Amino acid sequence: MAVYDVAVVGLGAMGSAALYHLAAAGQRVVGIERATPGHSGGSSHGESRIIRMAYFEHPSYVPLLRRAYENWRALELATGAELMTITGILEAGFPGSTVFEGSLKAARLHELPHEILSSRQVAERFPAFNLPSSWDSVFQPDGGYLRPEQAIATYMEAATALGAETRLNCLVKSIEPTAVGVRLVLGDGTLVEAGSVVVSAGAWIGELFPELAAHLQLTRQVLGWFAPVDPALVTPKRLPVFLLESDDDIIYGFPDFAGTGVKAASHQPGRRLNRADDARQDGGAKDAERIGRTLARYVPAAAGPAREVKTCIYTNTPDQDFIIDRHALYPQIVLASPCSGHGFKFASVIGEILADLATTGTTAHDISRFRLDRLL
Ligand SMILES: Cc1cc2nc3c(=O)[nH]c(=O)nc-3n(C[C@H](O)[C@H](O)[C@H](O)COP(=O)(O)OP(=O)(O)OC[C@H]3O[C@@H](n4cnc5c(N)ncnc54)[C@H](O)[C@@H]3O)c2cc1C
Repeated sequence: MAVYDVAVVGLGAMGSAALYHLAAAGQRVVGIERATPGHSGGSSHGESRIIRMAYFEHPSYVPLLRRAYENWRALELATGAELMTITGILEAGFPGSTVFEGSLKAARLHELPHEILSSRQVAERFPAFNLPSSWDSVFQPDGGYLRPEQAIATYMEAATALGAETRLNCLVKSIEPTAVGVRLVLGDGTLVEAGSVVVSAGAWIGELFPELAAHLQLTRQVLGWFAPVDPALVTPKRLPVFLLESDDDIIYGFPDFAGTGVKAASHQPGRRLNRADDARQDGGAKDAERIGRTLARYVPAAAGPAREVKTCIYTNTPDQDFIIDRHALYPQIVLASPCSGHGFKFASVIGEILADLATTGTTAHDISRFRLDRLL
């Protein structure tokens, strides 16, 4: 039986980052993934993810974001990979909208660079937009996007180079606490023992720990890529990343940085899934039409015919905050469910936190907001 200091279950955004930080800390670490890292059946695929500093969800995320930005840049420097592009982000909505008010509050509290713009100023600076005159906008120059598939591949490569072992296309069937750590039973019947385990199984975490399942709602989310009506107005130089809150939706989108079109999506939770394996790549014309209608209203230069539609899974907690904690009865088991549709940007700091928790049982980062006992 193979014996390690730490095992990581699930090598998506969080698991691949944890694997890297554990290997960098000199741990004998193994990462186990039921599919291939970067696959399109979980929560981390689809070309781009937003990163932003003044966090409308809650200002207390800002210290973690500062570290996340630092760690993404450090990873780029260490590996030569290009993972993060800064375009600025425009966050706008009706007067009193959560997106505008929340971002402004976080920006002011943490003295982050930002500008308040009228809809006319937005149109002058970024002519792709056509926002209602009554809306308020805040522009953060620090906003931008990450490339998720490349980020996971980079973490995997860098972790392996540092000595991490991996078992790919290999299901972890169960995790059993032992007197000295944990025993993992794999799909092929083999066993792995480790002093501690990081469980970063994304939308499948409730299948390994059923006590979590009742508190997590899985939803089907749709991403659409649209042919630009005016390509010159939607390049990363002319169009920032955007997050727009109307009376009936929150949509977000990205400039056409890859020649694939403008990617846009709704942040509202989609149809509920009973299990992660119920998710299918079944996005179609009806899904695209719904996103395209809102895009046409507010970013008309971007909203040509849909080119591609993909689906992805949100794993939502009731309060939209993450779960990052040690198991109440078995502290050698570290549980990580940082999603609710906004976790990716934090992977670079969460990987560090998970490595801290698995090796020392604690972390210098403030993760009190993510405690498990707030839900159980
Ligand atoms: C459509 C969409 C848009 C999003 N947009 C943004 C955004 O703009 N900005 C942002 O910050 N966040 C965003 N998010 C959220 C972010 O992508 C997620 O928080 C993040 O990807 C979650 O990473 P994870 O590692 O928890 O899950 P995943 O990356 O899904 O990884 C979990 C892995 O565990 C593996 N696994 C599961 N069970 C087992 C098992 N038993 N044995 C072995 N392996 C197992 C799975 O195969 C999978 O690879 C978005 C999410 C979606 C779906």
